[in-house]
Amino acid sequence: MFRQMESAGLQDLHFWQDPDTGLQAIIAIHDTFRGPAIGGCRFINYPDSAAAITDAIRLARGMSYKAALAGLPHGGGKSVIIKPAGLYDRNQLMQSFGHFVDSLGGRYITAMDSGTQISDMDNIALNTRFVTCTRDMGDPSPSTAQGVFAGIRASVQFRFGTHDLHNVHIAIQGLGHVGYALAKLLHHAGARLTVTDIDAQKVARATAEFNATAVEADAIYDTAADIFCPCGLGAIINADTVKRLNCAIVAGSANNQLADDGQGDSLARRGILYAPDYLINAGGLIFVALQHARHHEQAIRLKVESIYDALLELYKHAEADHRPTNYIADLRAEAIIRQASMATHQAA
Ligand code: NAD
Repeated sequence: MFRQMESAGLQDLHFWQDPDTGLQAIIAIHDTFRGPAIGGCRFINYPDSAAAITDAIRLARGMSYKAALAGLPHGGGKSVIIKPAGLYDRNQLMQSFGHFVDSLGGRYITAMDSGTQISDMDNIALNTRFVTCTRDMGDPSPSTAQGVFAGIRASVQFRFGTHDLHNVHIAIQGLGHVGYALAKLLHHAGARLTVTDIDAQKVARATAEFNATAVEADAIYDTAADIFCPCGLGAIINADTVKRLNCAIVAGSANNQLADDGQGDSLARRGILYAPDYLINAGGLIFVALQHARHHEQAIRLKVESIYDALLELYKHAEADHRPTNYIADLRAEAIIRQASMATHQAA
């Protein structure tokens, strides 16, 4: 476990077991050099606890990179609640998790993630103030969509020399919380949409509301479009799909879009501009971090909008260095975290 922590650069890993509620949970804190660690709480099935630990460590590191590039005063953290095998009381489980979060005294701030919802955050909030996405704060998805929309405009500006989206053809994979909100923004901006989802009802709604063309789930990779916009699963750009993509830009909300870093090289070799996922999808994190710090709505919107400039600047850097954009993003995030770590150690 220590080897795993060391290779991910993880600061600390916490475990909690509560026999009264059946809660077994893990909190991974990647770093706190720039401020408290922040990141969502997952409540999904894992084959075993080792898989849950690996997931928490990997995701905590990703949150650090995202917070660093977004310029937020936070490190990255992630938590995982292992689904109990038998019957359980969800409200009590979440309340117990609230005690766990609180026991860290603010080193970690939790949020919604896969498998958790606003009502869970409300239950967690009964026992800690280090929680976001509660009923009074709301869902971060619209801010994620707003940030991806800004990132798409920046990508079109860099690639085509205009950020006007009229008749720009965008192929959207996944019409969930983010994908649907984004499709709406793109439609209003005049973009032409091709969409897919494994849920037929979501596809029907998008075709009716946005005049979108529907394709089967697997056909989205072959769709000839200006932009491929992944808003469903992670790891969808792999050795197979990267050859099939028929687009100039990949820009979407999904986390961990590249199955491995080498896919960034493959995209660059094919002349496809890639918007690094954790930069373009940072709108949700910006929303939760600034909401928690009680920033005004307008200030949050402006900060989310700054993804446009950040992405444009990163594209220019990658072009000047002849390096893939994902490589430059990692390099920058690591430099920001290293600098903060050095400053912390010097101050100590
Ligand atoms: P969601 O679960 O609401 O939506 C995902 C959608 O993808 C669903 O409609 C699902 O049916 C669809 N889908 C799943 N497999 C598919 C497939 N093979 N082909 C086509 N569609 C498929 O999730 P979300 O909150 O909209 O998030 C979407 C992505 O963005 C995820 O990768 C998430 O990690 C990432 N993300 C979300 C946020 C946020 O604020 N919600 C923030 C950052 C990143």
